[in-house]
Amino acid sequence: MTSIKRFYVLLVGYETVPKSLSLRGSDSRIMIAEPICCYLVETDTGWILMDTGLDESRLRDPELAKQFYTSRGWSVLPIVSPAHSLLDQLSVIGVQPADITRVFLSHMEADHTGYLKLFRHAKVYVQRAEYIFATETPPFLGNITEDYDFPDIDWQLLDGDAELVPGLQMVSTPGHTPGHQSAVVTLPSGTQLVLTFDAGDFLENFEQEQLPGSASGGDEAALASIRRLNELAKQPGSMLFPFHDPVFIQGVKLAPLYYE
Ligand SMILES: [Zn+2]
Repeated sequence: MTSIKRFYVLLVGYETVPKSLSLRGSDSRIMIAEPICCYLVETDTGWILMDTGLDESRLRDPELAKQFYTSRGWSVLPIVSPAHSLLDQLSVIGVQPADITRVFLSHMEADHTGYLKLFRHAKVYVQRAEYIFATETPPFLGNITEDYDFPDIDWQLLDGDAELVPGLQMVSTPGHTPGHQSAVVTLPSGTQLVLTFDAGDFLENFEQEQLPGSASGGDEAALASIRRLNELAKQPGSMLFPFHDPVFIQGVKLAPLYYE
């Protein structure tokens, strides 16, 4: 049984990075503009947001852009155009941030935590290992601790696989980061979307079982996670749904269209 009613893909920006950051061993001269998404899930018991994009207010101000991105190693600034606005896309669907009572975080890098600040009334589901890594390790490239350093966030710390609601399984996939998690969403049609998030950015990572560029949770764990997601996607009616794949995104139904 699934409690999922609709699944929306909100395209909330792009980041331009060397291909080698996503696919280990690629030629680092090849640059790729990779989509950044949030998934919005309507369930029998309300709205769930999966990941929270990248905060564009810091890109508009040159000083903040330098402080948060350029000086931390982003060689090219991310693109968040007005058309990518998370709030506007939610509003078109008829959803306000206050309506979202549960937030799933795949991991705590900056292209996933940007608007967490808008959901401090919500329960936030993240793996304990990720939370510890992202909050107790000194600031490092990729994480913006200011995105999640709020005393009032209602953290729900997980130790491995768990069900968020019937039809939304959280799947522990460490490797890219120490507490990275993916998810499987069962649509009303019966189709199961295997949401990879950053366990592997591209379909290529899964087809070739190729490691992500960075694996702060260890290469062995990262490879095991890719293989685990491939196994899940082999189940009848299941499909891999990559997060940062610049080709795949072009065939996705974007909000306000939805999957059901
Ligand atoms: Zn990412």
